[in-house]
Amino acid sequence: MNKLENKVTVVTGGNSGIGFGIAEAFRNHGAIGTITGRNKETLDNAITQLGGNFIAIPGDVNNSNDLENVFKKTFEKFGKIDVLAVNAGGIVDGVPMGTISDVTEESYDRYMDLNLKSAYFTVQKSLPYLNDGASIILIGSSAAHRAAPGMAIYSAAKAALISLAKGLSLDLLPRKIRVNALSPGSIDTPVFGKLVPQEHLEQVKQMWIDITPVGRQGLPSDIGNAAVFLASDDSTFIVGTEILSDGGLTNIS
Ligand code: NDP
Repeated sequence: MNKLENKVTVVTGGNSGIGFGIAEAFRNHGAIGTITGRNKETLDNAITQLGGNFIAIPGDVNNSNDLENVFKKTFEKFGKIDVLAVNAGGIVDGVPMGTISDVTEESYDRYMDLNLKSAYFTVQKSLPYLNDGASIILIGSSAAHRAAPGMAIYSAAKAALISLAKGLSLDLLPRKIRVNALSPGSIDTPVFGKLVPQEHLEQVKQMWIDITPVGRQGLPSDIGNAAVFLASDDSTFIVGTEILSDGGLTNIS
């Protein structure tokens, strides 16, 4: 059954990994809309795979003019916006996360800007264009609950994002706009190639498989399917909370 028939969706970072998985799942349930990202080539490839009912609008989520442009153009093209998936985030290109002695004020700000500030202002810039009753999904992380060496800033930003879902959902209640966080565990996406040298890639993925109770890494479609639920009318009583899709990762010590 098409749970999102004719819903207009915006997925930030919809040109790669989890964002693409979300856009694909939305498309599979009848949605139309926009994907964003900075890389023109991967945006074009994603649009080819998503088909004619999706458009790509390039932009940097840390640039407010770019954000404004995404929502304005989406509204001009489709006439409304029903669902916003705030997914862009993760690794800052060329800036290692590092443990506390490696982190500079600049690298701290860059990670917070990408993984927290951009989400806040993505939501803010969307509001003039968003339908009353819309669903906003903030992509968090199991890292908000489960520490890993050298990832303190990322974990803190994602934990704050979950808090943002709670607070913003109250701010937006008068418009019946729901805000929830959807937190993936370890998902097999291109991010691992950015974090780990090629020769160690399989070993690192195997480590995640070994520590994930269900015995596999997640797929972008796992997150996509959960996002469809949060975007759809099946979840209208779910407000300002977090859903974990992590194969049980956060259940283990
Ligand atoms: P990818 O690296 O595959 O995708 C990251 C996406 O974010 C790309 O589409 C990228 O597009 C976009 N992006 C990054 N920086 C910017 C920017 N400044 N402006 C606009 N777009 C940007 O990673 P994943 O798919 O794995 O990650 C997606 C989300 O899921 C992130 O928020 C990440 O923190 C979260 N997550 C991932 C997990 C995993 O195991 N993979 C686990 C938990 C959470 P472009 O480069 O074209 O700008």
